[in-house]
Amino acid sequence: MQSIPLVDLKAQYKSMKSEIDAAIQRVVDNTTFILGEEVQSFERMFAEYCQTKYCVGVASGTAALHLSLIAGGVRNGDEVITSPFTFIATAEAITHCGARPVFIDIESKTMNINHQNIEKLITRRTKAIIPVHLFGQPCNMNEINEIADKYGLVVIEDAAQAHGAEYKGKRVGSLGDIACFSFYPGKNLGAYGDGGAVVTNHDHFAQTIAKLRNHGREEKYKHEIVGFGERLDTLQASILETKLLHLDAWTESRRRIARKYNKMLSHTPLDLPTELPGNCHVYHLYVVRTAQRDDLVTYLEERGIGVGIHYPIPLHVQPAYHYLKYRQQEFPQAVKAAAEVVSLPMFPELKDEAISFVVEQISKFFKINDY
Ligand SMILES: *Cc1c(COP(=O)(O)O)cnc(C)c1O
Repeated sequence: MQSIPLVDLKAQYKSMKSEIDAAIQRVVDNTTFILGEEVQSFERMFAEYCQTKYCVGVASGTAALHLSLIAGGVRNGDEVITSPFTFIATAEAITHCGARPVFIDIESKTMNINHQNIEKLITRRTKAIIPVHLFGQPCNMNEINEIADKYGLVVIEDAAQAHGAEYKGKRVGSLGDIACFSFYPGKNLGAYGDGGAVVTNHDHFAQTIAKLRNHGREEKYKHEIVGFGERLDTLQASILETKLLHLDAWTESRRRIARKYNKMLSHTPLDLPTELPGNCHVYHLYVVRTAQRDDLVTYLEERGIGVGIHYPIPLHVQPAYHYLKYRQQEFPQAVKAAAEVVSLPMFPELKDEAISFVVEQISKFFKINDY
C-alpha cells in the first residue's frame, strides 16, 4: 500500500542536501553557535523578505509572541483580543504576560477572526489584538488596523503559518505594528529545530525585543532590563538563510497543489478553502470541512493517507483554560469548525499521483464513482 504523509520534511532535505550540509558545516567550522554572523545576515534577509525595517531572530514562534507582547506594553490584568481557533501558543503568550486572552469568534469561510466582533469586546483593559493568519490566509487587516487605531491598541500579527502571504499587495509581517513568525520544522519556512522571528518597522519595538531575547543586555555583563534566553541560534539561522532562497518557489508549489485539489475535489460535498480577493494564501495547510469528518479521517488513515485536525479543541474549552471560565457555547463558529476540519497532505514536493490518490479515496468515501 502506498503511504502519503501529511508533511514530508525528508523530501525537501533530499532536494537541497548539499546546500543544507554546507550551511551547517560553516557554523560548525566557526563554532560561533550563539549570535554568530549568520543570525544577523538572516535577520537582514528576512526583514527585506517581509518588507519591514527590522527582524529579530528568536528561539521560537512562542517566544516571538511573548516578547512582542511585553515590548507592546501588555502587563498583568490587561486584555488581548485573539482567536479561539489557533494553536495554543498564541494564547499562552498572552497568559504568560499576566493578561487575559479575550477570544472573538471566527468567520466560517476563512476561519480567521471576524473583525465585526472586535469592537464590542474592547474595554479599558484592552491593550492589543493578535490576528492569526490561519493556515496561511491573511486576516482582514485594514478593518482590524482601523479599530486598533481608533482605540490605541497594538496590532501583533501571528504570522506563524503565513510566511510570504500577501494582503492587498503587501507581505504579511508588514501589516500591523509587530509580527511573529515560527520556524518550527513543519512551517512553510522551517528550521532543523525550534526557531522564530519578530519583524517590525518600529525602532523601539525592535530594540526592546533584541534586548529581551538576550537577557536584557546592551553589553556582555550589563543588563538594562530583565530579559530572557530566547535567541535564535546560529545553526538554525544558517539553515534558514539557505532555505529562504527557495521559499517563493515552495509557495508557488503549495498554491499549485491547492488549485489542483480545489478543481479535483469540486464534485465532492467537502467545503473547500477559499482565498479572499486581494489575498495571496500560502497554504501552510490545505483544510477542508465536512460534517462526516471523523469517519473520513478514519477512512483515509486506513488507506495510508496522512491527515491532520487543526484544531480539534478550541482554546476556550481547553482544560488548561478552565480556570478562566469561558462559556462553552460562546464561540459557535469555532466549535463547529473544530468538529468539521480536516487537513489533507500538503507540502511543496507532493506529487500529482499522490494528489490523485487522495482525491480518489475521498471520492470513494463519498461513494462518487465517475469523477
Ligand atoms: C506554530 C505556531 C505558533 C508557535 O510557534 P513555535 O515556533 O512552535 O513556538 C504560534 N502560533 C501559531 C498560529 C502557530 O501555528
